[in-house]
Amino acid sequence: MPRTVAILPAAGFGTRMGSDAPKQFRNLGGVPVIVFTLRRLATCPSIDEFLIATRAEEVEALAARIAQEKLGRPARVVRGGDTRQQSVANALAEVPADAELVLVHDAVRPMVTRELVERVIAEARTRRAAILGVPAMDTVKEVKRASLPNDVALITATVPRERVVLAQTPQVFEAALLRQALARAAEDGFTASDEAGLVERLGYDVYVVLGSERNLKITKPGDLELAEFYLAQERAGR
Ligand code: C5P
Repeated sequence: MPRTVAILPAAGFGTRMGSDAPKQFRNLGGVPVIVFTLRRLATCPSIDEFLIATRAEEVEALAARIAQEKLGRPARVVRGGDTRQQSVANALAEVPADAELVLVHDAVRPMVTRELVERVIAEARTRRAAILGVPAMDTVKEVKRASLPNDVALITATVPRERVVLAQTPQVFEAALLRQALARAAEDGFTASDEAGLVERLGYDVYVVLGSERNLKITKPGDLELAEFYLAQERAGR
């Protein structure tokens, strides 16, 4: 079996949440979101090691908190960067040379399931690059925002809905592919909001596996309450 290392970027400030604590440190099911997410990923036997990137001032405390967990494999906390991409790059620099697959998962997507993780890993094993994604329910518009009030934009195109997928994580890649993609992005000064974007721009095929609405990213007010609701549903067997 290939060695798979999971990277969790957890160095965000959570400014969109409108609260003091960054979202990865708010509580879900009685534990910090990052701990909840780690426990979920730890249900997957195919993950061999965890690397968590967090803000410099949180590294020590988070490492101590994670040490209390029985994850059954090594988990290290490293210093994140100013962007999500830089946080992933910092963690990737610590990935052992013999790793074959690297899985990147948002620390703030706690409701991921073992089935979804195993499914996307299996696809990446045969296809080199695979992510989770869900179909768009709304119609997607391309817009231009220049010289308009903050809450107004000009529509420049309508993207046919059947051609649109909303990217989630985990995103799983052959380690060499992800290293190459991040190195090239750094050389070119290019920033993307996910790792697939960096691999795609090198011309490699990236596949998308059907994710789940429940695999939400805790980003804005109300998301945490929604995650608690999904958790209660899960516990009730729904
Ligand atoms: O900002 P965004 O919603 O894309 O955040 C997704 C994940 O990336 C979160 O888990 C967040 O903590 C992480 N992140 C990071 N380093 C940053 C910004 C975000 O690790 N500088």
